Amino acid sequence: MIRSITGIDVAGKRVLVRVDFNVPQDDSGAITDDTRIVESLPTIMSIVDRGGVAVLMSHLGRPKGTRDPKYTLRPVAEHLAALMRSRGVAVNFAAECTGAVAEGAVAKAPFGSIVLLENLRFHAEEEANDAAFCEALARLGDIYCNDAFGTAHRAHASTAGIAHLFAERCAGLLIMKELEYLGSALANPKRPLVAIMGGSKISGKIDVINALLSSCDTILVGGGMMFTFLKAKGLNVGSSLVEEDRIELARELMQRAADAGVQLLIPTDTIVAPAFADTTDNRIVSVEAIPDGMMGLDIGPDTQKRFADVIRSAGTVVWNGPMGVFEFAHFQGGTRTVADAMADATASGVVTIVGGGDSAAAVTQFGHAKNVTHVSTGGGASLEFLEGKALPGVVALES
Ligand code: AMP
Repeated sequence: MIRSITGIDVAGKRVLVRVDFNVPQDDSGAITDDTRIVESLPTIMSIVDRGGVAVLMSHLGRPKGTRDPKYTLRPVAEHLAALMRSRGVAVNFAAECTGAVAEGAVAKAPFGSIVLLENLRFHAEEEANDAAFCEALARLGDIYCNDAFGTAHRAHASTAGIAHLFAERCAGLLIMKELEYLGSALANPKRPLVAIMGGSKISGKIDVINALLSSCDTILVGGGMMFTFLKAKGLNVGSSLVEEDRIELARELMQRAADAGVQLLIPTDTIVAPAFADTTDNRIVSVEAIPDGMMGLDIGPDTQKRFADVIRSAGTVVWNGPMGVFEFAHFQGGTRTVADAMADATASGVVTIVGGGDSAAAVTQFGHAKNVTHVSTGGGASLEFLEGKALPGVVALES
């Protein structure tokens, strides 16, 4: 069983919380998107409002085990302090995540306040899940709480190794929500269950497609990976992205889908361009007529319409990966249409789940983050969850 932070008495206690404050920053260090900080506030407030100290730990970027000032969490502490000012909650920054500096900051923090520790990944021991590092971190709290779903698929010190050192351990509200939505989507879905798979390659998503083949009614395939499927069907794909070493696998997946009675829908048209660029020099072609030297960068309008119809008539939809190169204005139509259809479907009662990463960025970009049932905060973690794998950061919370 996994307990929620809300069911734990935190008054007069120090709660060591693993948050995901890995926020994007510009060259000057300014935070360009504070969604991750804002989303962690319910868990943080649940601690400080009930008279506990929230001792927050996170990673930021990839400093590779050394203290690199570019990746300091200090600007994040300042941002959090600004968000907390109107609530009258003090935020202190500890310039170390373990040792005397961190222990001193935690000891002097009044109940009802927040301490943010410096970047965990300044120490190689974090990703190595080092036992002594876990113990050093564990000295900073009476209760352990994990609310960083985005790193829950990694067995690091702060996400996994540390948990057993606490008699009381729990999940924060973000992880509880992920478990509720991703868990029920698969365990007990409202049918038909439709999965939309996109993104660049099949290779990173084989396990999830395999797992979905045994649970879904329909799988829609878009993005770069569609061309490996088209090639497996014997079609010419021009200079589109193809994983030659996965063609056989694509063929097997299509056969498995047919055997299992799962509809695997591959696009019938695509938008091609002569180069990987955001160019007006593009046109719609049937997938049976992709010219040599042209590459497909989005799904075409017929496919967009067909996918949108399937989404609107689903019971549950799980989406992972963009339908095209949505970073380019000329090739974002497919991804936008899917995002719009997800929003429409949600309004008429379909359960819609966006599996993190690029698809989460896309629904946000198209203004639909609030118009779907659930946007997962973890790309890799949500994929592994959908694959049916146990997430180390979640397993470690079990009591
Ligand atoms: P992934 O990380 O595998 O989910 O892939 C996401 C990336 O796939 C995005 O950056 C998209 O630009 C890219 N992508 C989507 N469709 C295509 C395509 N047709 N050709 C090349 N890249 C694509």
